[in-house]
Amino acid sequence: MKDTDVLVHGGGVGGLALAVKLASNGVDVAVVEQLKAESPSYKGELLQPKTLQLLDALGLLDEILKHGHTFDAIEFNELERRENDEPIHIGNSKMDYSLLFSPYNYALMIPHEKLKKIMLDKAREYSDHFTYIQPARFVGFEEGVAQIKYTYDKTYEKMSAHIYVGAEGRNSPTRNAMGVHSESKTYNHHFLTVTIPRPPEFQKGKIVTTNHRFLGLFPLPNEKIRTVFLIKAGAYKALKQEGIEYIHQAYKELCPELGDYVTQLQSWKDIQLMIPTMYHVDHYVSDNIALIGDAAHAVHPMAGEGMNLAIQDADVLGQLIVWMKQQPTWDMSHLQWYEKVRRPRAQFLLELSHLSALAYSFPYRWWRQVRMKSIVQMEKDPVLHVKQMLNISGLGRWDNTILDRAIQIGILPKRNKAINEEEQLSYFFERTEDYPWEKGEIE
Ligand SMILES: Cc1cc2nc3c(=O)[nH]c(=O)nc-3n(C[C@H](O)[C@H](O)[C@H](O)COP(=O)(O)OP(=O)(O)OC[C@H]3O[C@@H](n4cnc5c(N)ncnc54)[C@H](O)[C@@H]3O)c2cc1C
Repeated sequence: MKDTDVLVHGGGVGGLALAVKLASNGVDVAVVEQLKAESPSYKGELLQPKTLQLLDALGLLDEILKHGHTFDAIEFNELERRENDEPIHIGNSKMDYSLLFSPYNYALMIPHEKLKKIMLDKAREYSDHFTYIQPARFVGFEEGVAQIKYTYDKTYEKMSAHIYVGAEGRNSPTRNAMGVHSESKTYNHHFLTVTIPRPPEFQKGKIVTTNHRFLGLFPLPNEKIRTVFLIKAGAYKALKQEGIEYIHQAYKELCPELGDYVTQLQSWKDIQLMIPTMYHVDHYVSDNIALIGDAAHAVHPMAGEGMNLAIQDADVLGQLIVWMKQQPTWDMSHLQWYEKVRRPRAQFLLELSHLSALAYSFPYRWWRQVRMKSIVQMEKDPVLHVKQMLNISGLGRWDNTILDRAIQIGILPKRNKAINEEEQLSYFFERTEDYPWEKGEIE
């Protein structure tokens, strides 16, 4: 007799999404979470269309819409700085979610801890199937059984499950126990991130760049805005020495409409350093253990995918486990289906995010010209535009060809051909691609 069907190590967005999916479908699930309260540090807040679709299917979207801020476009402004004068605009473009033929043709910003609370409250509605163990840590396996350490009295307990899921984020003891391999990549830049107030009319996402600077602006509810400012790797301490005025000045110059708002930021204490990294483990599944979310992969934050990959992993793994429980016996070889579906998709988005990061990684003038051209072409060429939005949305996949790349950097002219609904929809993931085991053709 097992203590539970599924034991999830880590109650972040990935672990909680999995718990809702399993418990709501009658699978017994326990989540072990080490934190005893909300985390004070910033994490992902941007939900992409596919994630919104999945959260809708879990009955969470109404609550998420109530506490989130939706937008359908991200503007790109390129500025030229001038000595002793205001910068001038030299390029404006826009990436538009609304051209996707889907009811989920928008993105949503929500405070990370609020999203977790909505998920946890939902999981608790299925109390016959859901157990939340907090604060406690998964510390490793002993004779194939999970060892849990309770934080308050430092005692240990063993918990057995049919399936164990590592959802502990970047430092994953489950991943260590599985002995999987991954190599980490770092970047020549870091980010400063902080939430500040915004004017009510600031409603859409915006990315403002110069030769040397990058400021990402993503509106949150309650007239707040998440800001992400690129700095050179290792420059954090020196910038801090310049005082909070450095941030006031830089933000004002890049986005004058935030000038009166950024000055409400009083101290560097509110600003978090974010160090981007990229890794992808070589396998997600080993016997009856699976990895989801940041335990399996970390993605550069440029395309806003990290949280989305975790929730999308949880959906596919959850759907598979529900199906496995309905079979006469627990056959762990079926877990490979999860890896087959999710690993290539995550790899694709890791590469796409990496490419977007490279666009902002070098301060050379010619590099900026290529970047500007590439963004303008992406907006103006309907094929490039649809591909970009579809790929980041997670709703489907439409690979770029050599022709696309040539158009993107301006070697070839843009196309005028519009993409009709039927053509676009043919690149959306179908149910049989998300959940291929349901076709009944199990090898
Ligand atoms: C500053 C910052 C900004 C980001 N911005 C974005 C963004 O805009 N969009 C986006 O999509 N993504 C973003 N990300 C990435 C995103 O936050 C992560 O990809 C996402 O949270 C991964 O979810 P997860 O559930 O896999 O892991 P996590 O969110 O890391 O959750 C893991 C959970 O496991 C718990 N845990 C860890 N070890 C143990 C243990 N041994 N036992 C029990 N519990 C344990 C942790 O306390 C935590 O609650 C950002 C990340 C950071 C750090």
